[in-house]
This record gives sequence, C-alpha cells and structure tokens, in this order.
Amino acid sequence: MSGAKSSPAAQSGSVIIEARDLVLSFGETPALRGADLSVRRGEVLAVMGPSGSGKSTLLYCLAGILVPDSGEVSFDGQRLGTMREEQRSRLRRDRFGFVFQSGQLVPELTAEENVALPLLLAGTRREEALRIARAWFARLELDGLERHRAGEMSGGQAQRVALARGLVAHPDVLFADEPTGSLDSLTGELVMGLMTGAAREEGTTVVLVTHEPRVAAYADREVIVRDGKVTTSEGALR
Ligand code: ADP
Ligand code: MG
Repeated sequence: MSGAKSSPAAQSGSVIIEARDLVLSFGETPALRGADLSVRRGEVLAVMGPSGSGKSTLLYCLAGILVPDSGEVSFDGQRLGTMREEQRSRLRRDRFGFVFQSGQLVPELTAEENVALPLLLAGTRREEALRIARAWFARLELDGLERHRAGEMSGGQAQRVALARGLVAHPDVLFADEPTGSLDSLTGELVMGLMTGAAREEGTTVVLVTHEPRVAAYADREVIVRDGKVTTSEGALR
C-alpha cells in the first residue's frame, strides 16, 4: 500500500478541532493525562499507539461523546465544554460521522436501515434514505446483504456497513476507531480508499485510530498516543 497524497485542504492548515490539555480518568484509572491535539480541516489523521494508551478515549472526547475532567475541546471555534448536551448531540448528528471499534450496528435493523440511520435521524424521508443507503452496498462489495441483520453478517461485513453509515450523511468529520480491525488486507484497502476518497473529494476530515502501520500509511499525518498524551510520530514530546 502506498501513502496518500495530502489534499489541498489538509495543506492549508486551518484547524477544525483543537484539544488542549485533556485529562480524563475512569475512577482510579487515568486514560488521558494532558493530551493536546490539533486536527486540520480536510486531513486524514492517523492516531496510533499501544493498546490502553487512551486512543479511544481521546477520540470520544474530540467527538463530544465523553466530556474530559479538565481541558477543552473546540470544534470550528466552538468550545464543546460550554455547550449543553442537546447542542453537543445535535453537533454529533449533523456534523460528525462515527465508526466505532466494534462496528456497533443496531441489531434489530437491516443492514440498509443501519446505513440509512443518520439520514433518517436528520429528517430524510424513509424511501429516499434507503435509496441513498443502498448505493453504498456495491461500493463496499456488500451486494445482496441489504436486508441482512447484524447477526447474519461476518465481523468484516458489519464493519463495512458501519463505515457506510459513518459516511452516508457526508459529515464534516469522520471519527473511526480501528475501522479495519476485522478486515482482510484487500477489504482494508477498499475501506481506506473510501475514507481517503471522502477526504479528497468532499473535504471530510478523518480522525482514524489504528495500530496498523499499513493503514496509517494512507493518512496525511500521524500522531502517537502514549500514556494518555499525544506525541508526534518521531516520539518527541510536544
Ligand atoms: P486504547 O483505545 O488506546 O486502547 P482506551 O482509551 O480505550 O485505550 O483506554 C485508556 C485507559 O482507560 C485504559 O487503561 C482502559 O482500561 C481505561 N478505560 C477505557 N474506557 C474505560 C471505561 N469505560 N471504564 C474504565 N476504564 C476504562
Ligand atoms: Mg481503543
């Protein structure tokens, strides 16, 4: 796999998400210990680092799903910490897409309904939402699985359905936590191609947690999380 070229937006350097000095503990367990990160508009940023270092926690804080004990996250100049929970959830619904570590499809819904979900939540009519959702199945080599439920798909298929759901509403930012974790390398390339394609063609900012160097090779830039802090890929503390 070859590394991707930077998009013009990524090179322009304007910051879309800024995290400053994030600290978060789960009871006695520190997960973030002063994490700083700036994400540039339109870039594909790979977040790497050992298991348990705080990558998922950082991603959830950037996305306003978790609120840090201290420190601040800003999106487009707005501080998430000063928003009410309804505003944060509207922001997540309207501007962000997610691919969670375990796929996390809604088991009661079919694959196409899962993909359509962000559109339905945003008020798109059901038939239109399903039509848009179905177009993703061929792109992800999932033809024929439209009416399957989560329990009737392999882990890798469910992960691709989750990616389609993350991208279907054209989010400003896609947060993806180990999105290639249960994919073989060819399917992983397909998934990475779709994510980098969204960044190049639509200006989507992609924050991608991965421990696979071959996946990180698609990113414009890479940071490493160690012991709850963000370091550059060279390992120098910022
Ligand atoms: P990574 O994604 O890099 O593997 P995480 O952000 O999931 O790391 O976890 C960072 C630390 O926080 C780990 O020590 C983990 O065990 C702990 N942790 C994460 N989520 C929870 C939780 N919901 N409850 C308790 N501890 C947690
Ligand atoms: Mg994780």
